[in-house]
Amino acid sequence: MPETNEMIRYSVITVKNPREIVLLRGRGCEWRKCRFCDYHLDFCKEESENFRLNSEALSHVTGEYHRLEVINSGSFTDLDESTMKRIMDVCDEKEIGEIHFECHWMHRESVPALRAQFAEKGIHVNVKIGVETFDSLFRESYLVKGIDTDQPSEIARYFDEVCLLQGIPGQSASSMEKDIETGLSYFSRVCVNIMVANSMPVKPDPRVIAEFQKIVLPKYEANERVDLLMENTDFGVGGIA
Ligand code: SF4
Repeated sequence: MPETNEMIRYSVITVKNPREIVLLRGRGCEWRKCRFCDYHLDFCKEESENFRLNSEALSHVTGEYHRLEVINSGSFTDLDESTMKRIMDVCDEKEIGEIHFECHWMHRESVPALRAQFAEKGIHVNVKIGVETFDSLFRESYLVKGIDTDQPSEIARYFDEVCLLQGIPGQSASSMEKDIETGLSYFSRVCVNIMVANSMPVKPDPRVIAEFQKIVLPKYEANERVDLLMENTDFGVGGIA
């Protein structure tokens, strides 16, 4: 992954649920065990350094769509207090009425307080969780995701949106489609990330990606509730500035 201080940290998504997006930096994902992920390397233990970097990213927000997505290679709970306050202030200043955060299952009990905090300002919070697949045995034995329920309804008690990881060994067009359909049944939005090779053991499977492109992609590319990311930089953040 690029040096973390060189990454692009602000972008605008103009299609499907248009919104601004910032890639902030926290103290680091607390789970850090997912066998496909090295995004968690984008962290810093120095709160003041994170706040400086995050303030710079947030300074680009214009509020043009009144919606903001905040990602931080972990969970919103990894962000320092000053950054959270800055986010809140930016929402106020730029009249943002809807905000998206991401969160690992282990921090699910922190979600209600986050919703309440933003609700006081009239801001609606959507929290996204990376489930990757609803096949819990595959998910926990191969991906080591750290979600100890096999019930999508239980996950949906806490979370609004779901990320899925597709294009990896062991998947097929039907399993990928089944995951997307489950996601659409229980969550307001589904974000499909196609696996891109990184330093971790789980690798993309070109045959599965070809099946995705031929069979699955055409069914969902026009669906307004489904984001499809063929590259992990497709939202415009995370690449090298
Ligand atoms: S995918 Fe998310 S939860 Fe898993 S290690 Fe990476 S940042 Fe942490």
